[in-house]
Amino acid sequence: MADRELNSVVTQIMQVSPTMKIIRVKPDSWELPDFTAGQFISLGLPATAQRCPDSEPEEKEYKPGKVIRRLYSIASSSVLKEYIEFYITIVRSGALTPRIFNLQIGDRIELGKRTSGMFTLKEVPEGFNIVLIATGTGVAPYISMIRSNALQKGIEKLAVIHGAANSWDLGYSSELTLIESMSDKFSYIPTILKPEKEPAGWHGDTRFIQDMWKEGIMEKTWGLKPSPDNTHIFLCGNPDMTSTMKEILNEAGFVEHSRKTSGQIHIESW
Ligand SMILES: Cc1cc2nc3c(=O)[nH]c(=O)nc-3n(C[C@H](O)[C@H](O)[C@H](O)COP(=O)(O)OP(=O)(O)OC[C@H]3O[C@@H](n4cnc5c(N)ncnc54)[C@H](O)[C@@H]3O)c2cc1C
Repeated sequence: MADRELNSVVTQIMQVSPTMKIIRVKPDSWELPDFTAGQFISLGLPATAQRCPDSEPEEKEYKPGKVIRRLYSIASSSVLKEYIEFYITIVRSGALTPRIFNLQIGDRIELGKRTSGMFTLKEVPEGFNIVLIATGTGVAPYISMIRSNALQKGIEKLAVIHGAANSWDLGYSSELTLIESMSDKFSYIPTILKPEKEPAGWHGDTRFIQDMWKEGIMEKTWGLKPSPDNTHIFLCGNPDMTSTMKEILNEAGFVEHSRKTSGQIHIESW
């Protein structure tokens, strides 16, 4: 596929940390589909696109014309439909991310025309609290929810618990800190696992998310114990975190939401 056939353009690249980037992609002369905050869409690049210099060499041979596609959660607002924003970690041995990390502003990329996913706030009843729990780039769908006016909908309280290795890996921390300072409803609870690497110290949490939960982080933050009668919980990111949190929540009576069963635990598996 020739570059000019790719349907979208990279309009913004923000290096969050050595391994993470925020990237904005704008459709070239076509209209973005409507989507619900929390959904995902595909990105694609031809196999002939260059990999970034610090990626691992690729053994695989691709057929001529092959486009490599992967799914990514949307981080931008569903209300403003000019571009789609992504928060992406490089997998140095991976097929697509080393090619995405080599892109410059103005380069072309394929953006899917269909959004999908049930990881949205649609099933949360009015008057409930919501805890959005993520590790790493798993915070992306929550940024879309918050930017799409989640706080204006009939929610009682909203919290984001975000875990990462280092403070510089906590993408969107400035935005979430600002929103916390402006809203009584919103709490931002970051935690990092390698405080010894912080050049200027770290005064926040350093526990695993599952330990914070068991030790009552929400009771301390909200003055209220989350229960299936008052709170929905969203989990996105590291599979160990999501599966351990699911077990802990199941023991407390929370049930996973699915197409067949309505529940209070919502999981996005990458
Ligand atoms: C619904 C959905 C939403 C997603 N949203 C995002 C998102 O918002 N941001 C994002 O960065 N990724 C997201 N992903 C993951 C993304 O689709 C790719 O799997 C990821 O970018 C790796 O692609 P790749 O082609 O570079 O690696 P591949 O060639 O596909 O994978 C190489 C290997 O790396 C492993 N791997 C995949 N991801 C990681 C990782 N993060 N760290 C370490 N190893 C990994 C794979 O299991 C595989 O074994 C999402 C996936 C799904 C299904």
